[in-house]
Amino acid sequence: MDRNQQLFDRARQVIPGGVNSPVRAFKAVGGTPRFVARAQGAYFWDANDKRYIDFIGSWGPMILGHGHPAVVEAVQKAVLEGFSFGAPTEREVELAEEILSLVPSMDMVRLVSSGTEASMSAIRLARGATGRSKIIKFEGCYHGHADALLVKAGSGLATFGHATSAGVPAEVVQHTLVLEYNNVAQLEEAFALHGKELACLIIEPIAGNMNFVRASVPFMKRCRELCTEYGAMFVFDEVMTGFRVALGSAQSVYAKALPGFEPDVTVMGKVIGGGMPLAAFGGKRAVMEQLAPLGPVYQAGTLSGNPVATACGLATLREIRKPGFYEELSRKTQSFISGLQGAADKAGVDFCGDSQGGMFGFFLFKDLPQNYATVMTTDNQRFNTLFHGLLDRGVYIAPALYEAGFMSAAHTDADIAEAVAAAADVFKLL
Ligand SMILES: *Cc1c(COP(=O)(O)O)cnc(C)c1O
Repeated sequence: MDRNQQLFDRARQVIPGGVNSPVRAFKAVGGTPRFVARAQGAYFWDANDKRYIDFIGSWGPMILGHGHPAVVEAVQKAVLEGFSFGAPTEREVELAEEILSLVPSMDMVRLVSSGTEASMSAIRLARGATGRSKIIKFEGCYHGHADALLVKAGSGLATFGHATSAGVPAEVVQHTLVLEYNNVAQLEEAFALHGKELACLIIEPIAGNMNFVRASVPFMKRCRELCTEYGAMFVFDEVMTGFRVALGSAQSVYAKALPGFEPDVTVMGKVIGGGMPLAAFGGKRAVMEQLAPLGPVYQAGTLSGNPVATACGLATLREIRKPGFYEELSRKTQSFISGLQGAADKAGVDFCGDSQGGMFGFFLFKDLPQNYATVMTTDNQRFNTLFHGLLDRGVYIAPALYEAGFMSAAHTDADIAEAVAAAADVFKLL
């Protein structure tokens, strides 16, 4: 009697594909999605009461692990005070102050409910503030499912994007230029052709939606220089990397190599909500004052800055800013990746991995890929064998080869050793 299968069958009758977000359906890897019954710390239990070590953590938000006592307490207290008012609260101010104190490139921030909403609004803001229409995004970077961002590359640099979803009119994506990640020559050509019409360039600084691929430092430097030269806004989509890869987020990682480095607009989500629907976008005062009610760029939300979500986010941020938090998280992530590397080497399996803070990725390749096209040359069959082998052994990684993984503060060295041992077992099958 497989309760997961029963629930999946029932779900498919009433929810398209049985899921409320496509990657959950296991379409890429096959098999039955696990329905989560409950979670605690580094684990969740499925509908059959089988335990898994969770290396997804809700796709990033659960940086403290599940059910952290300080977060649970803050949420319970907030719930008793009321769920939603549609009027401002002190907690929104506190959360804004907390975020701004950790990310100096932002003077002001607007809270919203999802990463999709935040990046869509950031692009509207960039267009409103510059009076320009065109945008650049990179192949393999995901910025949520707003129409203008569901695009794949056109046939050349002079042709703009094609929609990747039905229901997106060609007119809506005709202003989006899709470029190859980490390709400096192509970036320079695109700016030479279109730079003066560009409202913004949006990037995942460390891409987590094509597994784990870093923007190289020279590439990042060139993006910054060209945006400044042509007056386009440089938008950092840190929905995944924000407070996940470092206390100062990915921009602080690049600022180490490029002193003074800052994006113009930052998009946040995932960790700042601690598992509740909360996201944000922010930047310098002059830019942010273009937003309604001060400026002409409209943006709004009934549940924006929700009192329960902000309580959850605030409690989470107060934990992660404690001294030593990221050192310990990074140590564990690195030890997981090096453990996997050792196990793969022993089994003679091509393998490489990378990590930053509590975010990681690994590939069944010898060398780390630099762009989406290379990531997608991964052998599906081999990845699926690895995925299901781990799943059977109680280790839950992303059910698609183009997704990153996440460590939490709740994972212990014993959890990591157990996961590595499971992987060592599975590598033998590859
Ligand atoms: C998850 C994600 C989004 C979308 O956020 P949602 O809350 O799922 O709408 C946008 N950008 C990046 C980089 C993400 O990882």
